[in-house]
Amino acid sequence: MKTLKANRFSLELFPPKTPEGFLKLDQICAVFQQFYPSFFSVTFGAGGAAQLNTQDLVRKMVQQNRNTVPHLSCVNMSKARLSAILAEYKQLGINRLVVIQGDLTDADNCQNSEFNYAHELVTAIREMTADHFHICVAAYPEYHPHAKSPDADLENFQRKIDAGANSAITQFFFSSDAYCRFMDACHKLAITIPIIPGIMPIHDYAKLLRFSTACGAEIPLWLRKRLETLLAGPEDIREIGIEVVTKLCERLLLDGAPGIHFYTLNQLEPTKHILHLLGVSEVKEGLLA
Ligand code: FAD
Repeated sequence: MKTLKANRFSLELFPPKTPEGFLKLDQICAVFQQFYPSFFSVTFGAGGAAQLNTQDLVRKMVQQNRNTVPHLSCVNMSKARLSAILAEYKQLGINRLVVIQGDLTDADNCQNSEFNYAHELVTAIREMTADHFHICVAAYPEYHPHAKSPDADLENFQRKIDAGANSAITQFFFSSDAYCRFMDACHKLAITIPIIPGIMPIHDYAKLLRFSTACGAEIPLWLRKRLETLLAGPEDIREIGIEVVTKLCERLLLDGAPGIHFYTLNQLEPTKHILHLLGVSEVKEGLLA
């Protein structure tokens, strides 16, 4: 079995909408922190969440000495706003960002957006802050649903790297072959930045179906069938999900993936369980090197 080393995985969170949600997330982060993730990333406006909550959560996490990586998107992003956010993040000591186009929601009024695509935002961040930030962008092993063709999507990925991206996290997927094929295609283009698989632990099948329809990530038929025969029992679904996702992570690590990024959806389980199965355990503070 290929084990995952502490510090070679990261955890994605989204900003809660209520004070109670912030409190609950704080408790979850305290447990996750014991596994020593390389960082916690915080989404920006994803799924309809208010963008301002991202900055609130980032400030709180930095105060608690958690290694925090904010996401930034083009949605409602003017040059002036970008400059102000970057200045605050620099002051907070943040040195890494996830930069994406962003999903539009009904609540978004895009009159203020001065950027259309992620590569434009990467270029602006480099112009404003030179090499201060490590910039991570999105990659799509099963290709972005709006891309004209797989080649056009790869060209776009290359554009983001040419603009200054240092690494990438993928959209979630369940087929390790998709990741390997994507890596082969990148190698042919001499793309060498680390491309970290983004992995979605299966917590709630209905939600997973919604996400995969929205972002074009395929749930393979064999997995759908296994999960759909178990719709009556959420516990069974979680158990199968843990088994499937752990095997996927092991396969990816064997195939040379540089780490794993977990889309936790602010849930401690099943990510915690999967970390244990991958050989990552809690480190007590006193034992840290
Ligand atoms: P881009 O790289 O800009 O590409 C978007 C599409 O436009 C692609 O189809 C591309 O081929 C095409 N394209 C790019 N440039 C051009 C051009 N010049 N002309 C024509 N077509 C072009 N969403 C959120 O709202 N908040 C988040 O915090 C968030 N975090 C994410 C983190 C990760 C790791 C991932 C994988 C996704 C995240 N998303 C988030 C979702 C993301 O915003 C959507 O998937 C979005 O639709 C695409 O983002 P992108 O950065 O890949 O876009």
